[in-house]
Amino acid sequence: LHQHAVMQEKLSSLGLLAAGIAHEINNPMSYVTSNLKDLMADLPRLATAPELLEEYRRDILPATLDGLRRVNSIVADLRRFARGDPESLVEYDLNEEVRAAARIVQSRFTHDRELRLQFGELPHLLGRPRQIAQVLVNLMINAAEALGEQGNVTVRTALVGERIQITVRDTGVGMDEQTLKNLFQPFFTTKPVGEGMGLGLAVAHGIIRSHGGTISVESRPGVGTCFTLSLAQYPPPGLALGLPLPDEHPAHA
Ligand code: ADP
Ligand code: MG
Repeated sequence: LHQHAVMQEKLSSLGLLAAGIAHEINNPMSYVTSNLKDLMADLPRLATAPELLEEYRRDILPATLDGLRRVNSIVADLRRFARGDPESLVEYDLNEEVRAAARIVQSRFTHDRELRLQFGELPHLLGRPRQIAQVLVNLMINAAEALGEQGNVTVRTALVGERIQITVRDTGVGMDEQTLKNLFQPFFTTKPVGEGMGLGLAVAHGIIRSHGGTISVESRPGVGTCFTLSLAQYPPPGLALGLPLPDEHPAHA
């Protein structure tokens, strides 16, 4: 009987999870679908309606593409969580990955919600750049979601001694003790169903750890949050890059 109850619970949390993922993907997909339908309907008159054409070029199509990128990033999270998608070790320029991540999240920022990038001069690192970019995207999305109508997110890279430090600082809502305690747990989220899967930071933590790095967070409710990543130029020898996600959870700085 006890086992049955546990099984039931597992199945229903799996159901909730599946619903969350479906919703998360469904939102951007219906947006993309409806934009493409509009475009097809508008096609015959585009040649004679320059303002409409400009609207597609400037707003609608870039936003549509961003919807697809969002789906991509969700799938990337899930994949990583399922421990697939091995990527080989290469030398890469971290600042380039910050730029790539910023392009993906750019549409979440406006004049009053600013994304600032500050690049330090860095040596090339050894690691898995696509995974690192995914970490940056996850942190920047969280930061963007923490902002209200106005505020800013600053991403800064620097060489500090022998280590490379990346900070993602936001002037958003901040976090309470309870959230700070749980934020790296898979499926922990304070967002409504369909808006958060609670995988972003669990995935980020797993990736950073598998690179021999650390991730820490400081936050104050109503003031903002700062995530700090610290990476070595070369991961310690013998460290199995691509380790499975950790089971235990880190202490917070
Ligand atoms: P999700 O964003 O899907 O909820 P994450 O793992 O990315 O999952 O984040 C887990 C939780 O940590 C969020 O629901 C939120 O409560 C908190 N959090 C993460 N980043 C921030 C931030 N920059 N500001 C405030 N809260 C944050
Ligand atoms: Mg998130």
